[in-house]
Amino acid sequence: MIIKSASFVCSSAKVEQCPKQQLSEFAFIGRSNVGKSSLINRLTDHGGLAKTSSTPGKTQLINHFIINNNWYLVDLPGYGYAKASKTSRRKFSNIITEYISHREQLTLLFVLIDARLEPQAIDLEFINKLGEDGIPFALAFTKADKLGTGALSSNVAHYKKVLLESWEELPPVFITSAQNGQGKEDVLKYIENVINSLL
Ligand code: GDP
Repeated sequence: MIIKSASFVCSSAKVEQCPKQQLSEFAFIGRSNVGKSSLINRLTDHGGLAKTSSTPGKTQLINHFIINNNWYLVDLPGYGYAKASKTSRRKFSNIITEYISHREQLTLLFVLIDARLEPQAIDLEFINKLGEDGIPFALAFTKADKLGTGALSSNVAHYKKVLLESWEELPPVFITSAQNGQGKEDVLKYIENVINSLL
């Protein structure tokens, strides 16, 4: 998919405030600092679209960006940031849970996972919750450039093995780097195919 246009639409503090249009939404989520903003900016080739390095966990907003006047890219709040204020310390805030369970337009959720780390309990918990709720999702490993090829493939293989302990089937898996653009075409192609399959 060629990104011809990408622009910010709105930030919503509640799901009811999200755009009313019936466009497909591809949402991105992960632990704070996983590289979500950087990946969104790389995918859209718009450096300043998603704000990187903002104070993690502080504002819980859903950001909508319209892509090619055809679909929404949705930047969801990060989860599980321990230093967030007491009220927002819940691992998966209400706004995340509500968007995921009630947003009809949600077509696919990309769950971002730091490729360098051992599987983290909070990510596995989140993924399992998606499975229980029947939410379509894909995994995108981030910061792939920070690892050598051997370590990268063994980490990804290990992650898949852990998932297969509780899942019969693996979700689509993408390996990405916001730094060098790895995986960008794969992710965009996948989104394009999903959109075309809905036509
Ligand atoms: P967010 O909190 O998930 O939106 O994460 P950010 O996009 O703000 O990234 C957190 C930190 O990781 C920043 O210092 C980024 O520069 C860095 N980062 C993000 N993606 C990559 C990547 O693909 N490669 C490398 N080397 N660093 C990255």
